[in-house]
Amino acid sequence: MNKYEILKTYFGYDSFRGAQEILIDQILSGRDVLGIMPTGAGKSLCYQIPALMLDGITLVISPLISLMKDQVGSLNQAGIHAAYLNSSLTPGQYRKALSYARQGRYPIIYVAPERLLTPEFLDFARNARISMVAVDEAHCVSQWGQDFRPGYLRIADFIRELPARPVVSAFTATATREVRDDILELLDLRDPAVTSTGFDRGNLYFAVETPRDRYGAVKGYIEEHSGESGIVYCLTRKQVDEVCGHLIRDGFPATRYHAGLSDEERRKNQEDFIYDRAPLMVATNAFGMGIDKSNVRFVLHYGMPKNIESYYQEAGRAGRDGEPAECILYYSGQDVITNRLFIENNRDNLELDPETAELVRGRDLDRLKKMTFYCCTNECLRDYILRYFGEYGSNYCGNCANCRKEFETAEVTEAARIMIGCVKACGQRYGINVILDTVRGAETEKLRQYRMTENPCFGSLSRVPAYRLRQIMNHLLLNGYLETTDGSYSVVKLTERSEDVLCGAETVTMKMAKEPERRPGKAREAKKKKPVLASGLREGDEPMFEKLRSLRAAIAREEK
Ligand code: ADP
Ligand code: MG
Ligand code: ZN
Repeated sequence: MNKYEILKTYFGYDSFRGAQEILIDQILSGRDVLGIMPTGAGKSLCYQIPALMLDGITLVISPLISLMKDQVGSLNQAGIHAAYLNSSLTPGQYRKALSYARQGRYPIIYVAPERLLTPEFLDFARNARISMVAVDEAHCVSQWGQDFRPGYLRIADFIRELPARPVVSAFTATATREVRDDILELLDLRDPAVTSTGFDRGNLYFAVETPRDRYGAVKGYIEEHSGESGIVYCLTRKQVDEVCGHLIRDGFPATRYHAGLSDEERRKNQEDFIYDRAPLMVATNAFGMGIDKSNVRFVLHYGMPKNIESYYQEAGRAGRDGEPAECILYYSGQDVITNRLFIENNRDNLELDPETAELVRGRDLDRLKKMTFYCCTNECLRDYILRYFGEYGSNYCGNCANCRKEFETAEVTEAARIMIGCVKACGQRYGINVILDTVRGAETEKLRQYRMTENPCFGSLSRVPAYRLRQIMNHLLLNGYLETTDGSYSVVKLTERSEDVLCGAETVTMKMAKEPERRPGKAREAKKKKPVLASGLREGDEPMFEKLRSLRAAIAREEK
């Protein structure tokens, strides 16, 4: 049977989707491949179909027992002999499955990575004809990935033990450069064809807003989109309870979901949402996995998630039907602090050895930084996301807030020179906030202690509003005029481009959104209605809240 007949006969589909056919052809031509496609794109078929066409056995490495069971179950249903070998089998069942495998009954065998180098399995594999090793969820090999699995590091060793090298194919939905490089190297792919597709979701509109009154903004949005189904993601359970409570009080059909609720309530709320009895879901990131509701028209983020991977996954739950949908992130500086706290106190890291834990923490902070840049960039938001995933979009998509906004181009060379000069004069020792406070001329105890009040640039930009200074700083960082170090205390450093600005060889221009016209009446109205948060603070009090938190974090850091 050819690939089209197999697709139709066993899987019941008329045509291939996206890059499936390309990947299948590359495998059949004997080439190693790395396929990077978003979840739901149909990666399994890319190795299952060649597996049925190649002479020998295909081993599929998969990280989860439940995934293996699902896939083997559906293959068996389709009339394809497949089996899995993992710790869910009793020793008797395992031996039996292995003896069937020896007889050549299964063209496809799913195996847990930890099994590969066991004597029993190795003996089988060396004496069988293994024509392909397919590595599913290949990002598990990388410590940069979300779910590192040490067992994945053994795959390459296992392959080297085989008498003849099989084709190696790897698949993942994680497409950052670090992860991709790790996969290529750690799985030891040979002259691989790398195919990355389909991350763009053209029907999704992206926007970032920084409203003074976040709840007011969310409420306003929902009012304008009444009758539509949407999700509001919050950073904490407490926030979910608050926002959902306010929405219900204000008469909206909302329900909620987070890990602190009983199984019963979670199940019920989820169903209410799916069947549109409560078309508004307020939830933490615990909500959404495996939920396929096609008519979600908007995903609002009541706060910034910890990285672009999470954001894109959550936002991507909008518009699965392909119809236009909107993804709006309501950002406040406090989100950075909250996420930093999450990262510093991540309990998962306790199980790691100190060195790895430090690595993971650095990685998470780096991702947080890139997420923060997303919230501040004036560039095309879609392009920013796609570039993060290693795909190249155009600079202008026409369907994000930045592309729709009116831009103005401002020359900021003078401000840039002062900021860079400030970094240079202090010996490249301090973080972004210290630099910004210095050029702003903030008379704080901390600056006196660091002797930044004596810096020649102290107060040089006191007339520029603080948010604009931050935008300029972001522009300098995004464009390599300055850079920051990784790690828990991130320091601003000079780059090769810094000197060009200092010596006047380069002018710095920056595209920025035109200032919205202020309507004083509205602002006053918004002030009156500010909701009180459970912490007892009002939304506008966040700067104070922020200070308290950073103080706590600083103390925690020193205690370590
Ligand atoms: P991934 O592993 O990329 O997340 P899966 O392999 O689990 O995706 O496939 C997701 C869904 O898409 C499955 O229900 C699968 O049967 C379906 N699918 C895969 N290929 C096709 C195709 N060519 N046409 C229609 N549906 C497909
Ligand atoms: Mg899959
Ligand atoms: Zn755009």
